[in-house]
Amino acid sequence: MPGSPDVVIVGGGVVGCAAAYFLTRDGYSVTLIERDSVASHASGFAYGGLSPIVGIIEDDPVLPLSEASEAIHAELAERLPAESGVEYEYRRKTSLTLATNPAQVDELREAHDWLTKHYQGVVEWHDETSVHALEPRVGPAVSAGLLADRSGEVEPYKFTLALWQAAERAGAVMRNAEVTGVTRVGGNISGVVLGTGEVIEGGAFVLAAGPWMGKATEWLGIDMPISPLKGQILRLKAPGDPLAVSLSWSHNYATTKLDGLLWCGTTEERVGFDETPTAYGRDTIMSSVVEILPYLADAELVHHTACLRPVAPDGLPIVGPAPNNAGVFIATGTGRKGIFLGPAMAKAVAEMVTGKTPNVDVSGLSPTRFSGIR
Ligand SMILES: Cc1cc2nc3c(=O)[nH]c(=O)nc-3n(C[C@H](O)[C@H](O)[C@H](O)COP(=O)(O)OP(=O)(O)OC[C@H]3O[C@@H](n4cnc5c(N)ncnc54)[C@H](O)[C@@H]3O)c2cc1C
Repeated sequence: MPGSPDVVIVGGGVVGCAAAYFLTRDGYSVTLIERDSVASHASGFAYGGLSPIVGIIEDDPVLPLSEASEAIHAELAERLPAESGVEYEYRRKTSLTLATNPAQVDELREAHDWLTKHYQGVVEWHDETSVHALEPRVGPAVSAGLLADRSGEVEPYKFTLALWQAAERAGAVMRNAEVTGVTRVGGNISGVVLGTGEVIEGGAFVLAAGPWMGKATEWLGIDMPISPLKGQILRLKAPGDPLAVSLSWSHNYATTKLDGLLWCGTTEERVGFDETPTAYGRDTIMSSVVEILPYLADAELVHHTACLRPVAPDGLPIVGPAPNNAGVFIATGTGRKGIFLGPAMAKAVAEMVTGKTPNVDVSGLSPTRFSGIR
């Protein structure tokens, strides 16, 4: 249709905004549809850790995407602040993963051995004595640690905003509306229907609606088993010096961010689409943090947030063409790592939209793997 954008993107989180960024850089016209505002859900309230090695195992289908993500974040840090006018607080950071029981020590050992083989010189093992020497404020529960010089962080809201503002400066347009369905011509999707009844037509469609992607099941007639996994974060005014490294243990973490506050989390809750911070979240996080860092027992709680991670049944991202729907591409299922993985997923999808073979191997993350699951 004359006047229609080349690509319509649904969702203004980190994935949708990164897709808009990469597509406009390639000269495509883009309309992004967001029903709330940019980064108003998980992409604006995440912790913002860039963790290429945490949770990665040998033969992990996410490994190529993870390695590409690390490089893309480093490249973006060079140019995105100037392209967008937003300084989003990217920095490299050392991480220290802690173990508090024999099973965790074994797991950490296994990770150490594989990481040492895969990335020479990146990780360093610390036993009980040396881990306490490294960060004397960790409590007696800590019995070993893995120091890794490979992590980073951003302020996630500013990062997502930077992607969007750079896309907008390059011509992308945002529509503040809810997508409620699709239109078809000859069986193929030709447009998306807004809550007002208006139809936005386009040449291709990128669906990046985070935990709400289950709706695509109805729109596309395919299986899209994405569900929300709630997580909460506390920002504390902590006494004493900032933490020199980012700490993580089990599913939890603590780090001092550039705002001077100690951000710590998190929870994993199956409570539907409820994004409210709760006393349960606050108490669960505080008791875990105080076990690891007893000096925080009297820290002042400054800010408490909650948001939803989009999670697939196998825990892996979903990236690729939608089955049975030519011209429609899906990018979601980022789970706990969307700020880190989102830009590389969006870049791969942008390459697919423009008819290129993605630079990174995402074949293990295709939406086709859910055929039959609903
Ligand atoms: C507590 C917590 C901590 C986290 N920490 C980290 C971290 O340290 N590092 C990391 O890498 N990741 C982290 N994550 C994960 C990360 O936040 C998510 O994976 C990521 O933000 C998901 O991005 P998204 O763009 O897919 O979804 P979202 O940010 O949820 O964006 C989707 C957007 O789509 C819009 N939308 C949905 N349906 C429609 C519709 N029908 N019409 C129009 N718009 C629609 C929504 O309004 C929303 O704005 C964390 C998550 C949580 C919960």
